[in-house]
Amino acid sequence: MYPSVNIDPSLLKGPVFYKLMGRHIISLKQQETNGYPRPHPIHKTRAVINSVEIDQLRSKPAIQLKSDERICDRCSTIFKVDSRGLAINHNHSADDECSYHWGRSFRNPGTNMTSPFSCCGSDRKEKGCATSKHHVFNIENLKTVDGFVHTMDKPPLPGGDYGVYAMDCEMCYTTEGGELTRITIVSSDLKIVYDTLVKPDNPVVDYNTRFSGISERDLKHVMTKLKDVQAFLLNLLSSKTILIGHGLGSDLRALRLIHDTVIDTSIVFPHSRGPPYKRGLKKLILDHFQKHIQKDGGHNSVEDAIACMELMLWKIKPFLCK
Ligand SMILES: [Zn+2]
Ligand SMILES: [Zn+2]
Repeated sequence: MYPSVNIDPSLLKGPVFYKLMGRHIISLKQQETNGYPRPHPIHKTRAVINSVEIDQLRSKPAIQLKSDERICDRCSTIFKVDSRGLAINHNHSADDECSYHWGRSFRNPGTNMTSPFSCCGSDRKEKGCATSKHHVFNIENLKTVDGFVHTMDKPPLPGGDYGVYAMDCEMCYTTEGGELTRITIVSSDLKIVYDTLVKPDNPVVDYNTRFSGISERDLKHVMTKLKDVQAFLLNLLSSKTILIGHGLGSDLRALRLIHDTVIDTSIVFPHSRGPPYKRGLKKLILDHFQKHIQKDGGHNSVEDAIACMELMLWKIKPFLCK
């Protein structure tokens, strides 16, 4: 299926390659405004996440939540949770069910208008086109999120650069928000460097199988935990290693990882209408390579990570020469 971009593999490493890619690294300010986890001013293991921007990207109102309140990641209903983080189901009626659109809709900050949902084309006032037993939430709902690690400063690799990788993660919803279920990292020559399933630390509320392709059964015998993944990443990456991904903020939030050197293909390849609109990876790959990914609407982290690397190789190819 690959590669879509034909480049001599010997050109896909070293300082020249790193420098060309480096032109597209997003600023720390851009990380902040795009919901990337940033260092907490006092607590080393905590992160600050700008949820206002995430809400805008997801076309949700920005609301101050009480400590036992969460806003559903799918339908935007505000719901209460008990001490275990489980949604309190008041009357066990259909009202407690989550009715949602699995596609995307954007709010225009100027006009406050929202675009039709990409799943079914309906607008926000209409009932969702999918249902789920439970509301789910993401970690931006929590005032403080702990367990973050930072990539560290290290000397350059023997070739004189710091490495370039593309990454994609799959997530599920647990009682503590979004948690990692799979991570894939590919190298600049599109080889899989790391691909592992991950057992969430907290009880799973929803496996998010439609998007992640991962079900309860897949994780049954998985022993790898988030802390194992973090240890691998801190070993593989330095703070200057370029990580490429599409909307990588959500991946880094799930990984509880703070990393300064990021290329976000949703920013490098902007929507013609500008932010907060973003182009989906599926559409980008179709437009650039006439290739279909995410065929059934779901994601595959290997396919998506390779797609991100290919887009960036395409971007810098005109400047790469022998
Ligand atoms: Zn829909
Ligand atoms: Zn919901």
